[in-house]
Amino acid sequence: MTICARIGPEIERRRGDILDLSRRIHADPELAFEEIRTSRLLQSVLSAEGFDVSPAGSLPTAFRAVHGLSTERPRVTFTAEMDALPGLGHACGHNIIAAAGTYAAVVLKSVLGPDVGGTIEVVGTPAEERGSGKIQMIQDGVFENSDVVLQIHPHSLDTVIGQALARRSLTVEYFGQKAHAAAAPREGINALDALVLFYHSAALPRTKLPAGCLFHGIIDEGGQAPNIIPDYARGRFSIRADTMPKLETFTEQVTALARAAAAATGCRCDVTEPGPGVATFKRNSVLEDLFAGLFEDRGRLDPVKTREFYGSTDLANVSRVVPTIEPLVKAGDFPIHTEGFARDAGGAGGERALLDGVFFLACAGARILTEPHLLDRIRRDFLENTDAVPSPAE
Ligand SMILES: [Zn+2]
Repeated sequence: MTICARIGPEIERRRGDILDLSRRIHADPELAFEEIRTSRLLQSVLSAEGFDVSPAGSLPTAFRAVHGLSTERPRVTFTAEMDALPGLGHACGHNIIAAAGTYAAVVLKSVLGPDVGGTIEVVGTPAEERGSGKIQMIQDGVFENSDVVLQIHPHSLDTVIGQALARRSLTVEYFGQKAHAAAAPREGINALDALVLFYHSAALPRTKLPAGCLFHGIIDEGGQAPNIIPDYARGRFSIRADTMPKLETFTEQVTALARAAAAATGCRCDVTEPGPGVATFKRNSVLEDLFAGLFEDRGRLDPVKTREFYGSTDLANVSRVVPTIEPLVKAGDFPIHTEGFARDAGGAGGERALLDGVFFLACAGARILTEPHLLDRIRRDFLENTDAVPSPAE
């Protein structure tokens, strides 16, 4: 019996525990960098299954759980994203990502014989939604010994194609002068006017943007009372593009517009980046073919094959230092980051995506550990891939 043939029954045997872990995380959403209970829960499951658990780098909620000699190669890394969205809970389905990565490692450990070498690990990765925790973890050397990084993401469609837009975040602040809005309006310098002017002017080029470019954001400070001219206003914006050169050009345009709005209103303007940007995803065709076969094994027969873009992720930065894949597994019809998807992530569609996801990850891990030629081909594809666009963090 092949190892993969043993994985299905092992998932069935552990079905209750797998679903329970996902449900518990779904019921207790925590925001980026604050995934304290989720991180602890995952660590306790892995520790009870015989994994050696330790901190991973400088982020407090990041962890590493290793099975095998930690120096033994190859090393298969499953990542577990943990954070939820403000106001929406687990509307990105990280409960499924975390439970799938955790139980892929547990199931794989259970079915591998003692003759199989290598290392299986789960790395708990904080702050995917805000702050790009994995970029810090790359800098901390957490992925240095990984030969391959595997993660699934629940979604509204099935695809094995790695896809992510590069993204930079901008905080735009305007500083003006307070004044009574009725008694002395001419003495004021209205920071909110500047921000609104910038917002509209930055939205205008959207009609002329090359395909794959996006600009969006919010105004999160715009004054304290209607009868006081605001002396401070702040907005937070994301700029995305499907190539790094497009991202650079568009960022320069947006920054120039922010300064133009300051000049037009007499305000002072600060444009800052709250954190490092994320890269485009470096695809690996050998991993994509491997997962396409596994999707078929579980009856997911029609995965989307064209390259489309659905968002941005700090896992893309990992894909630039280690061969990485993040197939999307359909959990329902609602798009991610909606209340509907939060329900899907905790419902029957999400549970099916989770059980299939454990299967995909565990089987891929088993084959990489037991078929040296497969890993050679994954490495060669990684080295030969000319899509070597540096990430903003590099
Ligand atoms: Zn998300």
